[in-house]
Amino acid sequence: MYKPTLDYAQQLDKEDNLAHLRAQFHIPKDAEGNDWLYFTGNSLGLQPKQTQQYIQQELDDWAKYGVEGHFEARNPWMPYHEFLTNSMAKIVGAKPLEVVVMNTLTTNLHLLMVSFYQPTKTKYKIVIESDAFPSDRYAVQSQLKFHGFDTEEGLIEWKPRKGEELLRIEDLEKIVDEQGDEIALLLIGGVNYYTGQYLDIKRIAEIGHAKNCMVGIDLAHGAGNISPELHDSGVDFAAWCTYKYLNSGPGSLAGLFVHEKHAHNKELPRFAGWWNHNKETRFNMRQPFDVMPGAEGWQLSNPPILSMAAIRASLDMFEEVGMEALRAKSEKLTGYFEYLINQIDTDRIKIITPSNPKERGCQLSIQVKNADKSLHKKLTENNIITDWREPDVIRCAPVPMYNSFEDVYRMVEILKTLL
Ligand SMILES: *Cc1c(COP(=O)(O)O)cnc(C)c1O
Repeated sequence: MYKPTLDYAQQLDKEDNLAHLRAQFHIPKDAEGNDWLYFTGNSLGLQPKQTQQYIQQELDDWAKYGVEGHFEARNPWMPYHEFLTNSMAKIVGAKPLEVVVMNTLTTNLHLLMVSFYQPTKTKYKIVIESDAFPSDRYAVQSQLKFHGFDTEEGLIEWKPRKGEELLRIEDLEKIVDEQGDEIALLLIGGVNYYTGQYLDIKRIAEIGHAKNCMVGIDLAHGAGNISPELHDSGVDFAAWCTYKYLNSGPGSLAGLFVHEKHAHNKELPRFAGWWNHNKETRFNMRQPFDVMPGAEGWQLSNPPILSMAAIRASLDMFEEVGMEALRAKSEKLTGYFEYLINQIDTDRIKIITPSNPKERGCQLSIQVKNADKSLHKKLTENNIITDWREPDVIRCAPVPMYNSFEDVYRMVEILKTLL
């Protein structure tokens, strides 16, 4: 149904009812003023033009009110994180009670493991994907070590089969079936950062819970990309950053999800600070600790408002567009990208991301035969921004908010000549 011509790509852009969104972003340009072909929204999303004005508002109110801004600012800082909760909850398919924006991703994973990784002498192992993002692996290993376990012996890797790139859910089932009595926690990337594979989160939760394991999901590559329906999935907890598909700026704050079933359990072990203490009595200062229900009960500190303003600017766009429309465009855009790559007459490259749109987000991971980094370098010299991952994969993410069908067409035309 697709056609490999520029005319056709431009026709798709004309028919795209989200095409106007691109003009609401700053698209980086080369020295001659041509837009870069930006395919790394999976690493750092582009800046919405309105972000500046959202941050400026808080700078102005800080200048005008000083400390009184906590209550007097147009968007009072005291409850500022609450302004983000509803739209963030919608993006990941959660109830507002289950979601909060705070800290950064790896920090949140640790705070969640304080509560949901409660190993015993016999049930202490943690399962991760063999291609887990390094930070997640380090976090999990350090938790094992912290609790006095061997970091090799305590870590179980869910691996692709020999000669394959993707994970099979049956293999996770087998691991948990055989070793579940020793496993305390599954911590899995919902969308794998390397292959772009979108795993069946609900199934993972069922598999883990059948053997009384806690189940946590890292949604760094899922939030704003796919619709994970976290509440219905039944997973115990999740965390994600906001600087990838959520366009909230470098190093911006992260999201945290704790399922409703844990929302009122005050007995869960957790770390505390004044920001997870009951809001009503927080400033009485002398009370014994009284933890808030829901995800807010994992906060520690009063949050950085300038970073939250950037998140708010971006979430307002998501709120307006809706994940459903974004996802519909995304499937078409990545489908077109895949089609064009498959038209290239070469055996040097292979897409390792699943071809079923239900098992991937927008990213395609392209494996390059006999690779060194030179192809990636040549792409960059041609204003095509992609991401190289050792040993041999180029990751490209056409993002439905700001990438066009023409972007994808031009990228593949250049790739063709470089091959
Ligand atoms: C991007 C990413 C991270 C980064 O962690 P930070 O704490 O935000 O630096 C961690 N895990 C995964 C799976 C990621 O994709």
